[in-house]
Amino acid sequence: MFPEKVYYEPDSLSYELGQRLKEKYSAVPWIPIESHNRIDELRTQPNAAFRDLKRLLIVGVRKTHRYVPNAKISDFLVPYTSSGCSAMCLYCYLVCNYNKCSYLRLFVNREKMLEKLKKAALRAPDDLTFEIGSNSDLVLENTITHNLEWTIERFAKQEKGYLTFPTKFNMVKPLLTLEHRGRVIFRMSMNPQQIIRTVELGTSPLEQRIRAVNQMAEAGYRVGLLVAPVILVDDWERQYAELLDILAEQLSEQAKRSLKIEVIFMTYSYVHRAINTEAFSPQADLFNPDRMTGRGRGKYCYRPKIRAEAEEFLRLEIEKRFGTSSIQYIV
Ligand code: SF4
Repeated sequence: MFPEKVYYEPDSLSYELGQRLKEKYSAVPWIPIESHNRIDELRTQPNAAFRDLKRLLIVGVRKTHRYVPNAKISDFLVPYTSSGCSAMCLYCYLVCNYNKCSYLRLFVNREKMLEKLKKAALRAPDDLTFEIGSNSDLVLENTITHNLEWTIERFAKQEKGYLTFPTKFNMVKPLLTLEHRGRVIFRMSMNPQQIIRTVELGTSPLEQRIRAVNQMAEAGYRVGLLVAPVILVDDWERQYAELLDILAEQLSEQAKRSLKIEVIFMTYSYVHRAINTEAFSPQADLFNPDRMTGRGRGKYCYRPKIRAEAEEFLRLEIEKRFGTSSIQYIV
């Protein structure tokens, strides 16, 4: 059952969305908190409680709205309507920031966040792209708040700037009929189904993700793919070649037309190791001492030689199927 309990900042109930959430989840306990950033009774839980913590929902008001310049797929990373997530990918980048408290936090002051976004887009001399999904998965969040639907139509009306967000979920039906006016770039994260099943716990299966990309392309959205994170499991060459075959075969011509692919290798950390081992099982630890090495501050990445060979392999295999200009970047 999700959520099992809601922790909330009392101030959030003075917002329309806060009220709606209160009604929607009136059957579960609501526990007042001072700040969504400091919930001591959760922060002090052992790592073994990670899965239980994921069943909680935090409702608050976002106070920090600082945009971070970005040079990869967007111009700015924008803190938006949520952070954290109720899924449990074993490498989740949010664990680096929030540790075991990477549960879903919803911020109800969406009017303020959207106004700032629209102004930033309008003020810029050029069309800027804003990444609004770098702190959570907005397609999953949308099933609770409908914030994506609410945002896309309002943002697209002003005809300046673009929004983009990545996802691992297929629940795109409510987005298909929106007046997006080409102002949204939808990016789906892909991995071999075996990795999705064993590592990306609680996310949509590969076939459903592919169908969602095709549906979004058909609805006129610009679409992109992330092959991410690349995880060098024992038979990774076979698994990723097979994934690319499936994508080449099952993505529609419309989806492939302007497709850009981002390739991101997995980074991992000491914190992930501790949580995965204690909350799941020793087998859930993705650390591979033969292939990975330390990268400062408790982080791990693939050893340079292994990484370079894998990059070469993926570049060739992607270009063979999707053309030489299909790769946006590999990191
Ligand atoms: S879906 Fe994304 S945000 Fe959610 S657990 Fe997986 S990697 Fe983290």
